[in-house]
Amino acid sequence: MSQAEQTETVDEDGVIESVSGPVVTATDLDARMNDVVYVGDEGLMGEVIEIEGNLTTIQVYEETSGVGPGEPVENTGEPLSVDLGPGMMDSIYDGVQRPLDVLEDKMGTAFLDRGVDAPGIDLEKEWEFEPTVEAGDAVEPGDVVGVVEETVTIDHKVMVPPDYEGGEVTSVESGEFTVEETVVELDNGEEIQMHQEWPVREARPAGEKETPTEPLVTGQRVQDGLFPLAKGGTAAIPGPFGSGKTVTQQQLAKWSDADIVVYIGCGERGNEMTEVIEDFPELPDPQTGNPLMARTCLIANTSNMPVAARESCIYTGITIAEYYRDMGYDVALMADSTSRWAEAMREISSRLEEMPGEEGYPAYLAAALSEFYERAGKFQLMNGGEGSISVVGAVSPPGGDFSEPVTQNTLRIVKTFWALDADLAERRHFPSINWNESYSLYKDQLDPWWTDNVAGDWAETRQWAVDVLDEEDELQEIVQLVGKDALPEDQQLTLEVARYLREAWLQQNALHDVDTYCEPEKTYRMLGAIQTFNDEAFEALDAGVPPEEITDVDAAPKLNRMGTAEEWEEFIDEIENDLKEQLRTLY
Ligand code: ADP
Repeated sequence: MSQAEQTETVDEDGVIESVSGPVVTATDLDARMNDVVYVGDEGLMGEVIEIEGNLTTIQVYEETSGVGPGEPVENTGEPLSVDLGPGMMDSIYDGVQRPLDVLEDKMGTAFLDRGVDAPGIDLEKEWEFEPTVEAGDAVEPGDVVGVVEETVTIDHKVMVPPDYEGGEVTSVESGEFTVEETVVELDNGEEIQMHQEWPVREARPAGEKETPTEPLVTGQRVQDGLFPLAKGGTAAIPGPFGSGKTVTQQQLAKWSDADIVVYIGCGERGNEMTEVIEDFPELPDPQTGNPLMARTCLIANTSNMPVAARESCIYTGITIAEYYRDMGYDVALMADSTSRWAEAMREISSRLEEMPGEEGYPAYLAAALSEFYERAGKFQLMNGGEGSISVVGAVSPPGGDFSEPVTQNTLRIVKTFWALDADLAERRHFPSINWNESYSLYKDQLDPWWTDNVAGDWAETRQWAVDVLDEEDELQEIVQLVGKDALPEDQQLTLEVARYLREAWLQQNALHDVDTYCEPEKTYRMLGAIQTFNDEAFEALDAGVPPEEITDVDAAPKLNRMGTAEEWEEFIDEIENDLKEQLRTLY
C-alpha cells in the first residue's frame, strides 16, 4: 500500500484499548476519519472508521489474534489509497491492493504475513515512457502527457493528476523510467510521475455523466437481445449454486467489448476464488489473441481473509476502474459477490454495536450500495474525452430468496437484472437467464444503436420475440392442466415457435467454439429466421394445413443449428429459403 511512507506531520502514537476481531479501539490517537494507521507491535494495517472524543475505532485489514491492549497505534495521516500506474493490468491484488504473487506463491496457503506491506505497483520496474506533450504545451488536470505500453494489449496513458493545478510544460523526459521518477515538469513546479495515488473512498473527479447510448456487447444472445446492458450501465446477477454463474462471468470478461476488465472476487468461498485465480491467467482474449489478463486486474478476497479487507476490496476495485476510465477506456467491473461485501459491513457494524437495520445489516447498507453503483456511468472526462465504467454485481441471496435486503436494495439501484435460474440450469438450458424474471431498463435508449448499426426493424423484431415468449408462458399454465392437444391449432403453433426461440436462440453453448460468441448481426438474423418460420407457418395454417404437417418440415429443426453454424449468413439464408419453399408446397 502506498501510504507506507510516513509523513512528517504524523502526531503522537495512540494506545490500543480493546480488540474485538477486526475492530480495535485506541486512545490518544490524533487522527481523522479514514486515516490509515498501523496497529500493534506488528504494525497491522487498519483504517479509522469512528472517532468519539479521545476514542478512535479502527478496522484492521489483517488477523488481529495476539494483538492486545497497551500496544501502540501509529497514524500515517493519509487516507486509504490505491497506487495507480502501469503494472495493474495482469495483477492480482488483495482488498488493499497488495499484489498476491509478491507476497505468496499460491492461494490456498493463502495467508499473507501480518504487517507486511507491499506496494501496489512495482516501484523498481522501468517503463518506456513516450511523451505526447512538448515543452511549452499547456496542460490541465486529466490531460494525457505520455503513453506507456503496459501490456501487449493496453497502452497506459500517463495523466496530469486530477488534484494538480496544471500549467505550462517546462521539461519532458522520454525513455525508460521507474514510476517514481519525474517525467514531466510544469512551470508552477508540479512534477508528474507515471503513478498517482487516490483515496479509494472518494470517486475520482470527472465531468458530467452522460446518458449511455451504446450497449456493452456481450456476444450472448439472451443478454444482448433481450436484456442489454449499456456501456456505463449497472447490472445485477444473482448466483444460486450451480446456475452457471462462473461461466456467465467468464463469458462477460472474455467476450464483452470492454477495453478493461476489473474483477473483484469478494469473499466467496476460498476454492471458488482459487478457481478464478487459476482460470483467468489461462484464458485467451478472443479480441486480441493475447492473454485475457493483459487487460484484466483481479482483486481477490476469499472468505478466509480478514473481513475488513473484504469491505475495502470493492472500493479498491472501483477506484482502479475509474483510473482506466480517465484514460478514455470502457471498463467493465465485476463484483462477485456484493452479498459477501454487505456481510462484511454487517460484521463490522455489529462489532461497533451500531443500531442494526433490516436483518442485522447496518442502516447505511442502501446508501453504501448506491454509492458504489453511482460510480458507474458514461462520463465526460476532465480532459474532454469520454470513458465508461459498467458495473456487474453478483448477489448471492441465502437460499435464493430475493426478498432479502441486499438483493432488494440492489434491485432498486441497478437497471439490468440477469436472473440466473437454478431450474433452467438443471434442465441444461444455458445461459440459465430466466427470460420472465430478468429485465433491462436500457432497452429503449439502446434501440437507436441497434437500428443504426444492426437492423432498422430491430425493436419490432425483438418485441415480437418477447410477445411470443410471454404467450408461451401463459399457455403453459393451460397445457399443464389439460395438455397441449387440447389447445387450438394456432396456439399449438405458437408453442412450437416459442420452443425454437428458447432452444435455437436463447440457449447458447459457451463451450462450443462458434456458439460461444454471437455478434449482434447474427443475433438479429437468427431471430429473423425463427420469425420467418412463424410467418410462413401461420400462412400455411390459414390455408388449412394441419399443424403436424407444418412442424414436420425438414428445414425447421435446422433452426437449432444456426448458433453453431460457422458460415452462418449462408446457413441462415438457406434455412429461410427452404422454410418458405417447403411450407408453401403444403398448400
Ligand atoms: P456456478 O458457478 O453457478 O456453480 P458454473 O458456472 O460452474 O456454475 O456452471 C456449471 C456448469 O454448467 C458448467 O460446468 C457447464 O457445464 C454448465 N454451463 C454453465 N453455463 C453454461 C453455458 N453458457 N453454456 C454451456 N454450459 C454451461
